[in-house]
Amino acid sequence: MMYCPTCFNNSLHFDDKGVIDIIINKKQMDAGRIIYNLDPAERDKMLMEFAKKLDEFFKWYSNFQNKEPLCHVELVTSAVKCDSGCKMPTNLKTSVIDSIIPVSLIRDEFGRLGQKYNLEIELKI
Ligand SMILES: [Zn+2]
Repeated sequence: MMYCPTCFNNSLHFDDKGVIDIIINKKQMDAGRIIYNLDPAERDKMLMEFAKKLDEFFKWYSNFQNKEPLCHVELVTSAVKCDSGCKMPTNLKTSVIDSIIPVSLIRDEFGRLGQKYNLEIELKI
């Protein structure tokens, strides 16, 4: 559970399914999102899809002229609900790092892909 920005109770939770936006160093590819699914049977598939999207991003970013170390990662969704039925601010974005996507996976993939695409990584998570 997370805090609801409207009633401030510890009553906010993720929808069973939703979209995660993948934003790295404030950049997002046009297709830089995945569908998440909290069903444990779908977990492996979802994490593989996430790894695939990261690979696409690294490949894309490796073609940039001015490359900065990749340090900032945002994985956010607006698929949250309050148990009290509060109306959510339309621009509310909630991080799924550690709750839906494990930090260890993000670190591992950044390390692996940084080598693969010869990009510098200074991850701050
Ligand atoms: Zn609420």
